[in-house]
Amino acid sequence: MRRPYYNPGVPERLKSYWELTLPVRHVTATSAPASVDVLIVGAGFLGLWLAYFLSARKNPPRILVVERDTLGYGASSRNAGFLTCGHISEIVSDLAESPREAVFAAFLRRKQGVQTILNEFPDLLTDPCGSADYDPITDEKRALADELNATLASRGEPPIYDERELVFGGKPRRAFFNRFDRGVHPVRLLKALHERCAAHGVTFAHGVEVMNLGDGSANVVLADGKPAKVKYGRAFICTNAFARQLNAATEIVPGRGQVIITTPVEAKTSHALGFLNDGYDYFKFVDGRLLIGGGRHMFREREETTDLTPSVEVRNYLQALARQVIGHDRFSVERHWAGIMGFKSGAHVSLTHETRIDARTSELHACGGMGVALSPVVAQQTAANFP
Ligand SMILES: Cc1cc2nc3c(=O)[nH]c(=O)nc-3n(C[C@H](O)[C@H](O)[C@H](O)COP(=O)(O)OP(=O)(O)OC[C@H]3O[C@@H](n4cnc5c(N)ncnc54)[C@H](O)[C@@H]3O)c2cc1C
Repeated sequence: MRRPYYNPGVPERLKSYWELTLPVRHVTATSAPASVDVLIVGAGFLGLWLAYFLSARKNPPRILVVERDTLGYGASSRNAGFLTCGHISEIVSDLAESPREAVFAAFLRRKQGVQTILNEFPDLLTDPCGSADYDPITDEKRALADELNATLASRGEPPIYDERELVFGGKPRRAFFNRFDRGVHPVRLLKALHERCAAHGVTFAHGVEVMNLGDGSANVVLADGKPAKVKYGRAFICTNAFARQLNAATEIVPGRGQVIITTPVEAKTSHALGFLNDGYDYFKFVDGRLLIGGGRHMFREREETTDLTPSVEVRNYLQALARQVIGHDRFSVERHWAGIMGFKSGAHVSLTHETRIDARTSELHACGGMGVALSPVVAQQTAANFP
């Protein structure tokens, strides 16, 4: 037996705060359909949104989603839960490495993605706290904020950025504020999507690993360790950081992101999502606790891994940052976890999200640290192009 019948998922010590507060357990599959119209590999946000939009069509195809672990094992169940279209310092640094049109298009896509989530799940509990960019304010940033607001106005949408007086670590701080952004419990959204897909007739095979696939046929290993074959009309690899296993030529490389959450604490910082250091570091307030993540830029080489075991050096870095945000050191770390995201050849902004491997098989990606917002847009576009 390769795997137990009930999928235990990630070991307790490596679980995210989200997985602990909203556990997900699945009966794993010891059989799989011999043939389907659409095979989706990976049940993270991207795979689930794709299954959702395809299954919502008038004559939906027969869809099988194969997931070797728990829902959103790499990143979707382990991220920070920001629903964000971007903050000014991040967009300024994107402009230094990508064309203006691409950066603005990515901003609009992310905004559209967050709006899609809110429209599709109007009852989803979110925190409409907005986000604050605590990096230094410059004239270049002021001009960009105006330009982004003007872009929205030209589309008949209200402005979202303004400059305001906030509190950071007990001291007043002027910051750019984005009133559109909000926080979400990512596993709550994952579960809601999963339930919606199942209600639409999507078949799930949990605890099943796709070993290889191509030209309409996939070799899988079922939860009881037995091999099986699934024939497909179209397959979409939505495995994010784990893409190399199924596509040796993939451009996607893994990158670990780490997060800590404190015990409940009185923090002397405004209640909003917070961005520091061009967005490499970020924080938010959840259930009276401070969640703070980042540090990848300080330890980049060691974070190019798919290992979920968090490191002491990043914990120390995040703890020092937490002290600044909270404004005192009377707190303790309740949980420290890691997630694995995919990066497309180091590019932060990318407008191409599909790589064709053969006539029936594609790799899809919504890479980097913005996939919660981007994946509905990528999935909706892919479903719209489906014949
Ligand atoms: C620490 C951290 C913080 C982040 N914070 C945010 C944030 O606040 N906001 C935001 O928008 N984005 C954030 N992100 C990014 C976001 O979480 C990801 O972009 C998004 O979740 C990716 O979704 P996905 O479906 O592509 O990948 P994943 O969620 O990684 O899903 C891929 C799935 O494929 C499965 N799989 C892999 N190989 C196989 C195989 N061979 N057979 C079967 N199944 C397989 C895996 O088990 C996994 O479940 C963060 C990421 C990290 C790591």
